[in-house]
Amino acid sequence: MSQYAVPVLWSPDTRLHDPRHEVWVGVQTIGTETSARVDAILEALDGPGFRLVEVASADDRPALDTVHDPALVEFLGTAADRWAAGPYEDLVGQDRVVPYYFPTPAMTAGLPVRPAVAVHADAGRFAYDTMTQIGPGTFSAVLAAVDCAAAAAALVSEGAPLAYALCRPPGHHATPAGFGGSCYLNNAAVAAETLRAAGAATVGIVDLDAHQGNGTAAIYYDRADTRYGSVHVDPGAGWFPHVVGYADETGAGAGEGATRNLPLPEGTGDDRWLEAVADLAGWVADCDALVVSLGVDAAADDPESPLQVTADGYREAGRLLGATGLPAVAVQEGGYHLPTLGGLVAAYLSGHAAGVRRSGGE
Ligand SMILES: [Zn+2]
Repeated sequence: MSQYAVPVLWSPDTRLHDPRHEVWVGVQTIGTETSARVDAILEALDGPGFRLVEVASADDRPALDTVHDPALVEFLGTAADRWAAGPYEDLVGQDRVVPYYFPTPAMTAGLPVRPAVAVHADAGRFAYDTMTQIGPGTFSAVLAAVDCAAAAAALVSEGAPLAYALCRPPGHHATPAGFGGSCYLNNAAVAAETLRAAGAATVGIVDLDAHQGNGTAAIYYDRADTRYGSVHVDPGAGWFPHVVGYADETGAGAGEGATRNLPLPEGTGDDRWLEAVADLAGWVADCDALVVSLGVDAAADDPESPLQVTADGYREAGRLLGATGLPAVAVQEGGYHLPTLGGLVAAYLSGHAAGVRRSGGE
Protein backbone atom coordinates (compact mmCIF):
# COMPACT_ATOMS: atom_id res chain seq x y z
CA MET A 1 0.00 0.00 0.00
CA SER A 2 1.53 3.29 -1.01
CA GLN A 3 0.89 6.52 0.83
CA TYR A 4 -1.95 8.69 -0.44
CA ALA A 5 -0.54 11.85 -2.01
CA VAL A 6 -2.84 14.72 -1.01
CA PRO A 7 -3.67 16.95 -4.00
CA VAL A 8 -2.77 20.57 -3.22
CA LEU A 9 -4.92 22.90 -5.33
CA TRP A 10 -3.23 26.28 -5.64
CA SER A 11 -2.96 29.26 -7.98
CA PRO A 12 -0.21 31.85 -8.43
CA ASP A 13 -2.98 34.46 -8.71
CA THR A 14 -3.66 34.10 -4.98
CA ARG A 15 -0.49 36.14 -4.51
CA LEU A 16 -2.02 39.20 -6.25
CA HIS A 17 -3.80 40.56 -3.17
CA ASP A 18 -1.52 42.80 -1.14
CA PRO A 19 -3.11 44.11 2.09
CA ARG A 20 -0.05 46.36 2.67
CA HIS A 21 -1.48 47.81 5.86
CA GLU A 22 -4.67 47.64 7.86
CA VAL A 23 -6.42 50.36 9.80
CA TRP A 24 -6.82 48.95 13.28
CA VAL A 25 -8.02 50.98 16.25
CA GLY A 26 -7.17 54.14 14.39
CA VAL A 27 -3.62 53.34 13.38
CA GLN A 28 -2.05 51.70 10.38
CA THR A 29 -0.63 48.29 11.15
CA ILE A 30 1.23 46.03 8.74
CA GLY A 31 -1.10 43.41 7.30
CA THR A 32 -0.29 39.83 8.30
CA GLU A 33 -2.42 38.12 5.65
CA THR A 34 0.36 38.38 3.04
CA SER A 35 1.24 36.51 -0.13
CA ALA A 36 4.31 35.11 1.65
CA ARG A 37 1.84 32.76 3.35
CA VAL A 38 1.21 31.03 0.01
CA ASP A 39 4.91 30.43 -0.50
CA ALA A 40 5.48 29.22 3.05
CA ILE A 41 2.72 26.63 2.61
CA LEU A 42 3.83 25.59 -0.89
CA GLU A 43 7.37 25.06 0.33
CA ALA A 44 6.19 22.77 3.12
CA LEU A 45 3.93 20.75 0.79
CA ASP A 46 6.38 20.36 -2.10
CA GLY A 47 7.46 16.81 -1.30
CA PRO A 48 6.36 13.23 -0.59
CA GLY A 49 2.79 12.84 0.55
CA PHE A 50 1.54 15.80 -1.51
CA ARG A 51 0.88 16.52 -5.17
CA LEU A 52 0.82 20.18 -6.31
CA VAL A 53 -1.93 20.97 -8.83
CA GLU A 54 -2.09 24.46 -10.34
CA VAL A 55 -5.67 25.67 -10.81
CA ALA A 56 -6.62 27.72 -13.89
CA SER A 57 -9.16 30.52 -13.70
CA ALA A 58 -12.68 29.08 -13.94
CA ASP A 59 -15.09 29.96 -16.75
CA ASP A 60 -18.02 30.14 -14.36
CA ARG A 61 -18.58 29.86 -10.63
CA PRO A 62 -22.08 28.50 -10.00
CA ALA A 63 -21.45 27.88 -6.28
CA LEU A 64 -20.89 31.62 -5.71
CA ASP A 65 -24.49 32.36 -6.67
CA THR A 66 -25.72 30.06 -3.90
CA VAL A 67 -23.37 31.44 -1.27
CA HIS A 68 -23.35 35.22 -1.78
CA ASP A 69 -25.58 38.16 -2.59
CA PRO A 70 -24.66 39.12 -6.17
CA ALA A 71 -24.36 42.75 -4.98
CA LEU A 72 -21.36 41.80 -2.80
CA VAL A 73 -19.58 40.05 -5.67
CA GLU A 74 -20.35 43.01 -7.95
CA PHE A 75 -18.96 45.47 -5.40
CA LEU A 76 -15.76 43.49 -4.83
CA GLY A 77 -15.27 43.18 -8.58
CA THR A 78 -15.60 46.90 -9.29
CA ALA A 79 -14.45 48.69 -6.12
CA ALA A 80 -10.75 49.02 -7.01
CA ASP A 81 -11.58 50.53 -10.41
CA ARG A 82 -14.14 52.91 -8.86
CA TRP A 83 -11.49 54.02 -6.37
CA ALA A 84 -8.91 54.49 -9.15
CA ALA A 85 -11.42 56.55 -11.16
CA GLY A 86 -12.31 58.75 -8.18
CA PRO A 87 -10.46 61.71 -6.72
CA TYR A 88 -8.61 59.58 -4.18
CA GLU A 89 -5.19 59.71 -5.79
CA ASP A 90 -5.25 63.50 -5.35
CA LEU A 91 -7.12 63.46 -2.06
CA VAL A 92 -5.28 60.80 -0.12
CA GLY A 93 -2.62 59.38 -2.43
CA GLN A 94 -3.33 55.73 -1.81
CA ASP A 95 -5.05 53.08 -3.92
CA ARG A 96 -6.73 50.86 -1.33
CA VAL A 97 -10.50 50.96 -0.89
CA VAL A 98 -11.06 51.74 2.79
CA PRO A 99 -14.52 52.33 4.23
CA TYR A 100 -14.98 55.28 6.55
CA TYR A 101 -18.73 55.01 7.07
CA PHE A 102 -20.97 52.10 8.03
CA PRO A 103 -24.75 52.30 7.49
CA THR A 104 -25.55 49.96 10.38
CA PRO A 105 -29.16 49.40 11.51
CA ALA A 106 -28.46 51.96 14.25
CA MET A 107 -27.93 54.60 11.57
CA THR A 108 -30.60 53.63 9.04
CA ALA A 109 -33.26 52.94 11.70
CA GLY A 110 -35.28 50.70 9.42
CA LEU A 111 -34.91 52.65 6.19
CA PRO A 112 -33.48 50.77 3.21
CA VAL A 113 -29.74 51.17 2.57
CA ARG A 114 -29.30 52.70 -0.87
CA PRO A 115 -26.03 52.24 -2.71
CA ALA A 116 -23.84 55.29 -1.99
CA VAL A 117 -22.41 57.13 -4.99
CA ALA A 118 -19.01 57.68 -3.36
CA VAL A 119 -17.12 54.40 -3.18
CA HIS A 120 -15.53 55.31 0.18
CA ALA A 121 -19.07 55.42 1.58
CA ASP A 122 -20.43 52.53 -0.48
CA ALA A 123 -17.73 50.24 0.93
CA GLY A 124 -19.48 50.37 4.30
CA ARG A 125 -22.55 48.73 2.75
CA PHE A 126 -20.55 45.48 2.57
CA ALA A 127 -17.42 45.88 4.72
CA TYR A 128 -17.83 45.39 8.45
CA ASP A 129 -14.33 46.40 9.54
CA THR A 130 -11.53 48.74 8.49
CA MET A 131 -8.87 46.06 8.22
CA THR A 132 -10.06 44.33 5.09
CA GLN A 133 -9.07 46.58 2.23
CA ILE A 134 -9.43 46.16 -1.50
CA GLY A 135 -6.44 46.88 -3.73
CA PRO A 136 -5.88 46.57 -7.48
CA GLY A 137 -5.08 42.83 -7.31
CA THR A 138 -7.49 41.82 -4.58
CA PHE A 139 -10.41 40.58 -6.65
CA SER A 140 -8.19 38.43 -8.89
CA ALA A 141 -6.76 36.73 -5.81
CA VAL A 142 -10.21 36.34 -4.25
CA LEU A 143 -11.55 34.60 -7.38
CA ALA A 144 -8.45 32.39 -7.57
CA ALA A 145 -9.07 31.28 -4.00
CA VAL A 146 -12.70 30.48 -4.86
CA ASP A 147 -11.49 28.48 -7.88
CA CYS A 148 -9.04 26.48 -5.73
CA ALA A 149 -11.85 25.59 -3.31
CA ALA A 150 -14.20 24.56 -6.11
CA ALA A 151 -11.49 22.53 -7.87
CA ALA A 152 -10.62 20.67 -4.67
CA ALA A 153 -14.30 19.89 -4.08
CA ALA A 154 -14.64 18.69 -7.69
CA LEU A 155 -11.71 16.29 -7.20
CA VAL A 156 -13.31 14.92 -4.04
CA SER A 157 -16.68 14.59 -5.78
CA GLU A 158 -14.90 12.51 -8.44
CA GLY A 159 -13.56 10.11 -5.82
CA ALA A 160 -10.47 11.60 -4.20
CA PRO A 161 -10.73 10.90 -0.45
CA LEU A 162 -9.02 14.16 0.56
CA ALA A 163 -7.99 17.34 -1.28
CA TYR A 164 -6.52 20.56 0.06
CA ALA A 165 -7.30 24.03 -1.33
CA LEU A 166 -4.56 26.57 -0.69
CA CYS A 167 -7.00 29.46 -0.54
CA ARG A 168 -5.72 32.96 0.01
CA PRO A 169 -7.18 35.34 1.02
CA PRO A 170 -9.11 33.18 3.50
CA GLY A 171 -12.91 33.14 3.48
CA HIS A 172 -14.69 31.99 6.63
CA HIS A 173 -15.47 35.52 7.89
CA ALA A 174 -17.26 36.45 4.62
CA THR A 175 -21.05 36.48 5.18
CA PRO A 176 -23.76 36.24 2.50
CA ALA A 177 -23.51 39.99 1.80
CA GLY A 178 -20.51 41.17 3.82
CA PHE A 179 -16.73 41.04 3.96
CA GLY A 180 -14.32 41.50 6.82
CA GLY A 181 -11.73 39.74 8.95
CA SER A 182 -9.31 39.58 5.98
CA CYS A 183 -11.97 37.55 4.09
CA TYR A 184 -13.89 38.57 0.95
CA LEU A 185 -15.72 35.51 -0.44
CA ASN A 186 -16.38 32.30 1.48
CA ASN A 187 -14.17 29.56 0.07
CA ALA A 188 -15.36 26.87 2.50
CA ALA A 189 -19.00 27.49 1.56
CA VAL A 190 -18.04 27.33 -2.13
CA ALA A 191 -16.46 23.92 -1.45
CA ALA A 192 -19.57 22.77 0.44
CA GLU A 193 -21.92 23.95 -2.33
CA THR A 194 -19.76 22.26 -4.98
CA LEU A 195 -19.95 18.98 -3.03
CA ARG A 196 -23.71 19.39 -2.65
CA ALA A 197 -24.21 20.09 -6.35
CA ALA A 198 -22.32 16.86 -7.11
CA GLY A 199 -24.65 14.81 -4.93
CA ALA A 200 -23.69 15.14 -1.25
CA ALA A 201 -27.06 15.59 0.47
CA THR A 202 -25.53 16.76 3.75
CA VAL A 203 -22.15 18.40 4.29
CA GLY A 204 -20.43 18.90 7.62
CA ILE A 205 -18.12 21.87 7.99
CA VAL A 206 -15.61 21.74 10.83
CA ASP A 207 -13.78 25.01 11.45
CA LEU A 208 -10.42 24.68 13.24
CA ASP A 209 -9.35 28.32 12.85
CA ALA A 210 -8.65 30.13 16.11
CA HIS A 211 -11.54 32.51 15.34
CA GLN A 212 -15.15 31.50 14.82
CA GLY A 213 -16.09 31.54 11.13
CA ASN A 214 -19.00 33.93 11.48
CA GLY A 215 -19.40 34.14 7.71
CA THR A 216 -19.84 30.41 7.21
CA ALA A 217 -22.07 30.24 10.28
CA ALA A 218 -24.27 33.01 8.86
CA ILE A 219 -24.54 31.36 5.45
CA TYR A 220 -25.80 28.11 6.97
CA TYR A 221 -27.55 29.30 10.12
CA ASP A 222 -31.06 28.46 8.94
CA ARG A 223 -30.21 25.45 6.78
CA ALA A 224 -30.43 21.77 7.71
CA ASP A 225 -28.47 20.42 4.73
CA THR A 226 -25.13 21.72 6.00
CA ARG A 227 -23.84 21.56 9.56
CA TYR A 228 -21.35 24.12 10.82
CA GLY A 229 -19.21 23.32 13.86
CA SER A 230 -16.37 25.47 15.15
CA VAL A 231 -13.77 25.35 17.93
CA HIS A 232 -12.29 28.77 18.63
CA VAL A 233 -11.12 31.24 21.22
CA ASP A 234 -14.04 32.60 23.22
CA PRO A 235 -15.33 35.82 21.63
CA GLY A 236 -16.56 36.70 25.12
CA ALA A 237 -12.91 37.09 26.13
CA GLY A 238 -12.59 39.97 23.66
CA TRP A 239 -11.65 38.16 20.46
CA PHE A 240 -12.82 38.44 16.86
CA PRO A 241 -15.65 38.07 15.77
CA HIS A 242 -16.62 39.62 19.14
CA VAL A 243 -20.42 39.61 18.95
CA VAL A 244 -21.07 36.13 17.54
CA GLY A 245 -19.54 32.67 17.99
CA TYR A 246 -21.15 31.85 21.35
CA ALA A 247 -22.20 28.37 22.44
CA ASP A 248 -25.89 29.23 22.59
CA GLU A 249 -26.00 29.97 18.83
CA THR A 250 -27.30 26.65 17.55
CA GLY A 251 -29.10 27.53 14.32
CA ALA A 252 -32.58 28.75 13.50
CA GLY A 253 -35.68 27.48 11.70
CA ALA A 254 -34.88 24.43 9.58
CA GLY A 255 -31.27 24.82 10.71
CA GLU A 256 -32.05 24.57 14.44
CA GLY A 257 -29.38 22.29 15.90
CA ALA A 258 -27.18 22.40 12.79
CA THR A 259 -24.75 25.00 14.20
CA ARG A 260 -22.34 24.18 17.00
CA ASN A 261 -19.90 26.64 18.57
CA LEU A 262 -17.30 25.40 21.05
CA PRO A 263 -15.55 28.50 22.44
CA LEU A 264 -12.43 27.90 24.54
CA PRO A 265 -10.60 30.10 27.05
CA GLU A 266 -7.40 31.94 26.21
CA GLY A 267 -4.35 29.75 26.70
CA THR A 268 -6.11 26.46 25.83
CA GLY A 269 -3.64 23.80 24.63
CA ASP A 270 -3.83 20.48 22.82
CA ASP A 271 -5.80 18.36 25.28
CA ARG A 272 -8.92 20.46 25.63
CA TRP A 273 -8.77 21.67 22.01
CA LEU A 274 -8.61 18.07 20.74
CA GLU A 275 -11.55 17.10 22.94
CA ALA A 276 -13.56 19.75 21.11
CA VAL A 277 -12.28 18.58 17.71
CA ALA A 278 -13.26 14.98 18.57
CA ASP A 279 -16.68 16.22 19.62
CA LEU A 280 -17.17 17.97 16.25
CA ALA A 281 -15.80 14.96 14.31
CA GLY A 282 -18.42 12.76 15.94
CA TRP A 283 -21.11 15.36 15.33
CA VAL A 284 -20.53 15.46 11.53
CA ALA A 285 -19.69 11.77 11.06
CA ASP A 286 -23.07 10.87 9.53
CA CYS A 287 -22.88 13.60 6.87
CA ASP A 288 -22.08 12.65 3.27
CA ALA A 289 -19.00 14.86 2.94
CA LEU A 290 -16.72 17.02 5.05
CA VAL A 291 -15.22 20.47 4.61
CA VAL A 292 -12.48 21.44 7.04
CA SER A 293 -11.85 25.15 7.50
CA LEU A 294 -8.17 24.68 8.17
CA GLY A 295 -7.01 27.73 10.06
CA VAL A 296 -3.75 27.05 11.86
CA ASP A 297 -3.70 30.30 13.84
CA ALA A 298 -4.68 28.37 17.00
CA ALA A 299 -1.00 27.40 17.13
CA ALA A 300 1.06 28.61 20.07
CA ASP A 301 3.41 30.78 17.98
CA ASP A 302 0.68 32.54 16.02
CA PRO A 303 0.47 36.30 16.63
CA GLU A 304 -3.30 36.47 16.04
CA SER A 305 -4.65 34.28 18.84
CA PRO A 306 -3.95 33.21 22.42
CA LEU A 307 -4.59 29.47 21.90
CA GLN A 308 -1.63 27.14 22.44
CA VAL A 309 -2.11 24.25 20.02
CA THR A 310 1.02 22.40 18.80
CA ALA A 311 1.87 20.85 15.42
CA ASP A 312 1.25 17.45 17.01
CA GLY A 313 -2.17 18.75 18.04
CA TYR A 314 -2.96 19.69 14.44
CA ARG A 315 -1.70 16.27 13.27
CA GLU A 316 -4.03 14.57 15.77
CA ALA A 317 -6.92 16.80 14.67
CA GLY A 318 -6.29 15.54 11.14
CA ARG A 319 -6.34 11.97 12.36
CA LEU A 320 -9.63 12.53 14.20
CA LEU A 321 -11.36 14.08 11.20
CA GLY A 322 -9.79 11.57 8.77
CA ALA A 323 -11.18 8.78 10.94
CA THR A 324 -14.71 9.88 10.03
CA GLY A 325 -14.01 8.25 6.66
CA LEU A 326 -15.84 11.10 4.94
CA PRO A 327 -14.64 12.41 1.58
CA ALA A 328 -13.04 15.67 2.64
CA VAL A 329 -11.94 19.06 1.35
CA ALA A 330 -9.54 21.00 3.56
CA VAL A 331 -9.70 24.73 2.85
CA GLN A 332 -6.98 27.09 4.07
CA GLU A 333 -8.18 29.79 6.45
CA GLY A 334 -5.90 31.72 8.86
CA GLY A 335 -2.36 31.08 10.08
CA TYR A 336 0.12 33.94 10.19
CA HIS A 337 3.40 32.82 11.76
CA LEU A 338 5.47 32.36 8.62
CA PRO A 339 8.28 30.22 10.13
CA THR A 340 5.80 27.53 11.34
CA LEU A 341 2.80 28.02 9.03
CA GLY A 342 3.72 25.45 6.38
CA GLY A 343 4.67 22.81 8.92
CA LEU A 344 1.34 23.19 10.72
CA VAL A 345 -0.62 22.73 7.49
CA ALA A 346 1.52 19.71 6.55
CA ALA A 347 1.00 18.23 10.04
CA TYR A 348 -2.79 18.48 9.77
CA LEU A 349 -2.91 17.07 6.23
CA SER A 350 -0.56 14.17 6.93
CA GLY A 351 -2.59 13.30 10.03
CA HIS A 352 -5.78 13.33 7.98
CA ALA A 353 -4.21 11.41 5.07
CA ALA A 354 -2.83 8.71 7.36
CA GLY A 355 -6.32 7.28 7.59
CA VAL A 356 -6.81 7.37 3.85
CA ARG A 357 -5.69 4.31 1.90
CA ARG A 358 -4.94 4.47 -1.76
CA SER A 359 -8.00 2.97 -3.34
CA GLY A 360 -8.51 1.39 -6.73
CA GLY A 361 -9.68 4.64 -8.26
CA GLU A 362 -6.54 6.61 -7.40
ZN1 LIG B 1 -8.29 33.14 12.42
